[in-house]
Amino acid sequence: FLEVTGVNKSFGPLQVLKECSFSVNKGETVVLIGPSGSGKSTLLRCINLLEPPSDGSIRFQGKEITEDLRNADKLRAQIGMVFQNFELFQHLNAVENIMLAPMKVLGYSRHDAHDLAVELLKKVHIPDRADHLPDELSGGQQQRVAIARALAMKPKLMLYDEPTSALDPEMIREVLDVMTELSADGMTSVCVTHEMGFARRAADRIIFMEQGSIIENASSDVFFGGEVSPRAQQFLNQIL
Ligand code: ATP
Ligand code: MG
Repeated sequence: FLEVTGVNKSFGPLQVLKECSFSVNKGETVVLIGPSGSGKSTLLRCINLLEPPSDGSIRFQGKEITEDLRNADKLRAQIGMVFQNFELFQHLNAVENIMLAPMKVLGYSRHDAHDLAVELLKKVHIPDRADHLPDELSGGQQQRVAIARALAMKPKLMLYDEPTSALDPEMIREVLDVMTELSADGMTSVCVTHEMGFARRAADRIIFMEQGSIIENASSDVFFGGEVSPRAQQFLNQIL
């Protein structure tokens, strides 16, 4: 479904990704962990071509995505991305944030886009926040609007880059619960997060990166069964 093979990425002299290879099957949830600066965000950004890889191959639904960078918009329409800082449009309320892309990109009428947005706000458990502007919402609510906005494009793959790390502890859970429900419903996803409780509940596989390389790629059972490399274990001890 998603196959990343031998991906390298450099910024000038700095090699940030080194021969990264992994694959994600349809319906799988993969959690990506690793120290700050190890290249997690860069790897996610390569998958939706926010950054073109320096070399290597990324195949998504059987097609090489790096072949023609002019298709990046088409690709991004199928891949939802959620960021640490929500990145909502501040002048639009919750429902309008969600309606925008289906109207502009998928050709939805205002009426249909509104119906879709209302349905998605239910799915992320804030049906009563439709008319609120982002700064009238809690961080956890804003992030759930951002997830709903990504879902409005009916993505085949969701990428999350530390979606809860800007949130107060009591709001982390409500965002992780939505992500867990989506995974259980069969959404394919790659999540950069250090929330190991979520990883235990929702992840099929855990990938550990360090200094641009994938050091470990293990099934959740093996990983949480304690059969991890000493380096991954050391990292886990630090964050737990
Ligand atoms: P964090 O946990 O802090 O988010 P990360 O694992 O997501 O870290 P990246 O953001 O992918 O790490 O960064 C990996 C390395 O690439 C870092 O050394 C960073 O400084 C560098 N880097 C990232 N983006 C750029 C850029 N646009 N130009 C130059 N260097 C960059
Ligand atoms: Mg990052």
